[in-house]
Amino acid sequence: MIDCLFCRIIKNEIPAKSIYEDEKVLAFEDINPQAPVHTIIIPKRHVTSLKETETGDKDLLGHLLLAAKKIAEDRGLGESGFRLVINTGPDSGQEVCHLHVHLLGGRRLGWPPG
Ligand code: AMP
Ligand code: ZN
Repeated sequence: MIDCLFCRIIKNEIPAKSIYEDEKVLAFEDINPQAPVHTIIIPKRHVTSLKETETGDKDLLGHLLLAAKKIAEDRGLGESGFRLVINTGPDSGQEVCHLHVHLLGGRRLGWPPG
């Protein structure tokens, strides 16, 4: 996908602090962290948002969530807890049009979000 920021990170055209990678997903530190741990987990295949996923993406979506859980545990958030966020579409504030999971933790998170 031309001009997709996260595809460019996957291709190493834009630097990012990668913290996890496997055959399907890549995880890296958010450039503007909103919590002591703020990691972005993305599929290596370009998918614009959760809205564009379908039944055939079940494995990929499960893989993203399990990768997020593993990273959270590796970062020491297993007991204190953490939050996963998938912004989807204009009202959510989604800015980057490549499906991504935010992993947030390391402080008490407010609810509801603003
Ligand atoms: P969203 O608003 O859900 O689309 O979130 C996009 C996230 O990507 C934001 O939290 C940004 O801080 C983050 N972000 C934007 N550019 C970069 C980058 N070059 N490296 C890492 N994270 C980024
Ligand atoms: Zn992309």
